[in-house]
Amino acid sequence: MKIGFIGLGNMGAPMARNLIAAGHDVTGFDLAATPEGITMAHSLTEAADGAEIVITMLPNGEILRQVASDLLTHMSPGSILLDCSTVDVASARAVADQTGTKGIPSLDAPVSGGVGGATAGTLTFMVGGPDDAFAKAKPLFDIMGQKAVHCGPSGNGQAAKICNNMILGVTMIATCEAFALADKLGLDRQAMFDVVSTSSGYSWSMNAYCPAPGIGPQSPADNDYIPGFASELMLKDLRLSQQAAEDADADTPIGQAATNLYAQFVEDENGKGQDFSAMLPRFESRSRS
Ligand code: NAD
Repeated sequence: MKIGFIGLGNMGAPMARNLIAAGHDVTGFDLAATPEGITMAHSLTEAADGAEIVITMLPNGEILRQVASDLLTHMSPGSILLDCSTVDVASARAVADQTGTKGIPSLDAPVSGGVGGATAGTLTFMVGGPDDAFAKAKPLFDIMGQKAVHCGPSGNGQAAKICNNMILGVTMIATCEAFALADKLGLDRQAMFDVVSTSSGYSWSMNAYCPAPGIGPQSPADNDYIPGFASELMLKDLRLSQQAAEDADADTPIGQAATNLYAQFVEDENGKGQDFSAMLPRFESRSRS
């Protein structure tokens, strides 16, 4: 398949390399990155020229809206715009409406799995958009990932992503504050893990990504909290969840509290550049008063 790939940063470059390795004809475009092993175009329009699918992996919804409207005049009707970025639900729906009027179906397909999953081709895609476009993109999801869930119409992929990551942010904070409390109560961390990971307090944050160094499976906690999934990316996703909650008039007090805490951690403390599980050393160093 002839594919244009826009945005070849930490995630986009390894995703594009996996498509190339599977035999697809990929032309990339990025404003700044010059990744090895990928044929790069000199312009957005050159990358999109003749492409059956244009994939975007960009920082935010504002940039996506701009790129999508620039792409529109250069993509042929029947080709597909496949956005894998994490953006606000409203931008995903606006882009789908705009491209739809030109006969270009659009899919919002944010991912879970991070740079490791992008490199290994084991991402999970959560996808919103028309059935036939999903069916056409499915072979590409199978190369770049291990699972693609069709979540419904446009915007529903982004909705699934921010709901998932709101749960993730909240459970990571709860797990970290519980470890810090357990320390002060004299409870051994390994005993805490052994109990919680097999009891009703278990979660992905505890069981698969334990924030306590030396406990549970290997995680960024065992590597000085080098990301992994950086705190500022968690903050981005939590803010998207709260923006969506406001637009939809949904009451999400714990999601809001998690957003406020990550904002404080990233903007006023030393959380920027640290893994999002570095909330544990943050809580360790604090007291109630
Ligand atoms: P990144 O900053 O490494 O890459 C984004 C790339 O887009 C950059 O290379 C930048 O130069 C390029 N770009 C920006 N504006 C452009 C434009 N107008 N035209 C062409 N290129 C442009 O970011 P990333 O870590 O690769 O993340 C990309 C998306 O994936 C984000 O939406 C992020 O939230 C999401 N995501 C990231 C992770 C992760 O662990 N990094 C995990 C899941 C989802």
